Amino acid sequence: MKIVLFGPPGAGKGTQAQKIKKVFQIPHLSTGDIFRDAIRNRTELGKRVKSILDSGELVPDQTVVDLVSEELEKEIYSNGYILDGFPRTVAQAESFQNILNKKGESLSAVVSLEVPETELIRRILSRDEGRSDDTEEKVQKRLQVYRNETEPVKAFYKNLGLVKEIKGTGTVQDIFERITSAIQP
Ligand code: AMP
Repeated sequence: MKIVLFGPPGAGKGTQAQKIKKVFQIPHLSTGDIFRDAIRNRTELGKRVKSILDSGELVPDQTVVDLVSEELEKEIYSNGYILDGFPRTVAQAESFQNILNKKGESLSAVVSLEVPETELIRRILSRDEGRSDDTEEKVQKRLQVYRNETEPVKAFYKNLGLVKEIKGTGTVQDIFERITSAIQP
């Protein structure tokens, strides 16, 4: 199963990814986590992306696409994966689609978590993950970037008939159950 978890910051992608990973036994690939690890470990990549993450802007498409395509070559992803935070622009989605096509592979579903904006802001400001981009000003910026750059990715996947819209409010378990019934093969 190859799943894209899609939605704005604060929609619960990371939380749901952890649950899907456990139940379906497939690895979770979060581009945001990779960048934060790189920054923490002061790698070359980390140095390049630190100020971008701090500003709430997006890392350049080519950097992200190269990173994801290289990562997905690893054996652990051969039985499927959950992508969280990627693709985040239509250009990334197009490149990714080309990569999959070349390998004769396809996505199983794009799960879109639907959460009202007021709830997103409340969730992000109340979470305590020590993220330097979880401040009020940065959250507004990230939501703006989401609306401008990322929201159109949903239409891209809708055209491919892959989108499952899931109500992303309620308990974590309720949301997870909605997801599992939507993605059951
Ligand atoms: P996230 O943990 O998914 O909220 O990502 C945190 C930050 O990492 C974002 O605000 C971006 O700066 C960067 N980032 C993560 N994934 C991507 C992506 N697919 N394309 C561009 N930037 C990304």
